[in-house]
Amino acid sequence: MNSNSPIRLSTLSDLSRLGYQLACFCPRCQRWADLNLSDLERQGVATRRVVDFTPRCRRCGTRGEKQLRPPPKRVARGARATFAHYAAPADA
Ligand SMILES: [Zn+2]
Repeated sequence: MNSNSPIRLSTLSDLSRLGYQLACFCPRCQRWADLNLSDLERQGVATRRVVDFTPRCRRCGTRGEKQLRPPPKRVARGARATFAHYAAPADA
C-alpha cells in the first residue's frame, strides 16, 4: 500500500487489518477493556461498521464508550536514518 493512500477505518476488520485497536470504557464500572478484534472476527462481527458497533460491559451490561487506538508507531526506513542522525544522543 502506498503510504500516501487514504486509509479507510469503516469496519472492525479494517481496524484489525491496519493494526488499530479498539478499547472500551464502562462509565459505570469505571474500567477499561481492550477489545479482542480477532475474537470479534471469529464471532462474525468483522463486517460491522465501527460506528454501529455498541459493545456492552461484560460485568454490568452498560453500553461502553469506544476509543480507537492507532497502531504502534512504525518508523519508515528512510525516516529512521534521519531521526537517528538528529537524535542519537537522546536515543542512546
Ligand atoms: Zn460495567
